Amino acid sequence: MKRRAFVKTVGFASLAVPLSRCGSLARRASDGGARDLGGSRRPNIVFIMADDHASQAIGCYGSRLNQTPHIDRIAQEGVRFDNCFCTNALCAPSRAGILTGKYSHINGVRNNSQVFDGTQETFPKTLQAAGYETAFLGKWHLTSDPTGFDYWNILPGQGDYYNPDLIEMGDQKQHPGYVTDILTDMAVDFVQAHQNPSRPFLLMLHHKAPHRNWEPAERHMTLYNDVEFPEPPTLFDDYATRCAAAAEQEMTIRDAMNLEDDLKLEPAPDRLDDSQKAAWEAAYGPRREAFQNAGLSGDALVRWKYQHFLQDYLGCIAGIDESVGRVLDALDSTGLSRNTLVVYTSDQGFFLGEHGWFDKRFMYEEALRMPLVMRLPGAIPPGSINKDMVINLDFGPTFLDCAGLEKPADVQGRSFLSLLTGQTVVGWPESIYYHYYEFPAIHMVKRHFGVRTGRYKLIHFYYDIDAWELYDLANDPHELNNVAADPAYAGIRSDLEVELVRIQNRYGDSEELARKFVEIDVG
Ligand code: CA
Repeated sequence: MKRRAFVKTVGFASLAVPLSRCGSLARRASDGGARDLGGSRRPNIVFIMADDHASQAIGCYGSRLNQTPHIDRIAQEGVRFDNCFCTNALCAPSRAGILTGKYSHINGVRNNSQVFDGTQETFPKTLQAAGYETAFLGKWHLTSDPTGFDYWNILPGQGDYYNPDLIEMGDQKQHPGYVTDILTDMAVDFVQAHQNPSRPFLLMLHHKAPHRNWEPAERHMTLYNDVEFPEPPTLFDDYATRCAAAAEQEMTIRDAMNLEDDLKLEPAPDRLDDSQKAAWEAAYGPRREAFQNAGLSGDALVRWKYQHFLQDYLGCIAGIDESVGRVLDALDSTGLSRNTLVVYTSDQGFFLGEHGWFDKRFMYEEALRMPLVMRLPGAIPPGSINKDMVINLDFGPTFLDCAGLEKPADVQGRSFLSLLTGQTVVGWPESIYYHYYEFPAIHMVKRHFGVRTGRYKLIHFYYDIDAWELYDLANDPHELNNVAADPAYAGIRSDLEVELVRIQNRYGDSEELARKFVEIDVG
């Protein structure tokens, strides 16, 4: 990319100032920063996304549960974002937001059952129109067929872990094996076939794992059998101080996680072949027997379920981490690494026992927060850590910016390319907006919207409730103490209410619109 083009894509070069926390790595956009993305003119983009992979289960985010050396490698050789947030923490809505760069109330996918309108502009379409070859592999989950891809091969709906069906450009057939490995084989084949690409490519590799019911590859079924995982401090949360939403959900490990298919006390699913069934029985037969002999109930049962849930969940992530390693190796062996932006993220976070929960949906930190690591040699300083707040809607604009392309004018996300390359941008947003809609529905998390700043979070639950929560994340990082009615926080609450209206106005959302969607969604 030419210097002028780079400065343009950075946005306001005059606003870019050295990033003190990155020390000598920081540069001005207007000096040697015009380093044409380190030679990465129109880089290839490999966008890997897992489903429900919590930051708490990634080594470079300080996991106390597992190791993820290959995902960590992306961060070591690139940047780790510590404040990346989802705008609606649910599978389909997050995907629609990423594709369009627009909030749910605009892209039309507010919950998991709404069909994505594929005639909308998306970042893959914009890249394709600019000459990129575009491909999508894995979990699509938007009901309508993918658009904007030269090639696509997707799981129907949620897809299966073992011997999954895949729909290749409209043609559905079953594939023997384990889903993460099958998708990885396809991704590696794609990379190897593009060793000398005549045009840059976008490869989206979107995994099913580690989504419920957390079924690992055969080789990972017993990987964590001998591990005692530390419990989160909020495993036995009593939801005191909070509104009814926290107490009335249906996503506790205690009551909503079942023993049969979630915790695998039933025989192997029919979909497995004989060899897979034998591995399943070898792994989960002893678990079943131990459980039957233990006679657990109450808190002891919660603890047992937590431990075995994590064994399975983290077993799935072991497969994902291996997959990342294989894709990175393929990029290395083809020489593509130096000109390829590699991204690893998850469609949203996940509760791993925090507040007694699994699943996501709430605006609380564990679900709201997305892992995000990115690597582009020569452009992203190795080992960078970024603390600015970015959202999933920003991904597409950033990819377009890397390709030297303008985002369409109505896209709500904004490029954080300048943050990637070690700048800080004066005026970068200091708050993010969130809106969750899927209620009443599975897990029964009430409708809510809110604003999060660097320190505070204000949430409004509505529809069958009218309640506010306010958290001081500096003093209460686990969000146990709702201070919405605390007189000491009256001024802060007032400021946050103003900020909430401001940010709703910015994105074209409102209480009135929320009520309209209740009528449409619930009737
Ligand atoms: Ca998900």
